[in-house]
Amino acid sequence: MYCPFCRNPDSRVVDSRIADDGSAIRRRRQCPECGRRFTTVETTSLTVIKRSGVGEPFSRSKVINGVRKACQGRPVTEDDLAMLAQEVEETIRGSGAAEIEAHDVGLAILDPLRRLDEVAYLRFASVYQAFESLEDFESAISLLRHEAESKGRDGKSPKKSPLQAPS
Ligand SMILES: [Zn+2]
Repeated sequence: MYCPFCRNPDSRVVDSRIADDGSAIRRRRQCPECGRRFTTVETTSLTVIKRSGVGEPFSRSKVINGVRKACQGRPVTEDDLAMLAQEVEETIRGSGAAEIEAHDVGLAILDPLRRLDEVAYLRFASVYQAFESLEDFESAISLLRHEAESKGRDGKSPKKSPLQAPS
């Protein structure tokens, strides 16, 4: 790639290091022409295949936008959303896939969102999994209850009942 300073078409790698838990490599490069240094980041390309069949690069901000609405009025911060999107990306990259269907991105969101906020999870799941009846909500809620109970008193059980209205 061209040197971003002088457009010289050559550069020399002076340092390489693994980043983001092995999903990326950062290379420190030096331009032999102007002597300036710059950094490149190398990751495997990850393509999301939309329902229309069109592929687009995976984007954390799309994940965040997808769950933000479900988190309205909930105690979820921008940092929480950024962490969630990172976790989703790591899960998908960890699977080794270079392409993933948009539907499977949604699946990868469900788990971390449930741990983040159960009400937001129910909202997201109801749209994403197309809940059609009260029974669908009931079974999702009883699953949450079951998990909360099996977690026991390790301090990680939910602070609020999933049925409680958003404050
Ligand atoms: Zn240069």
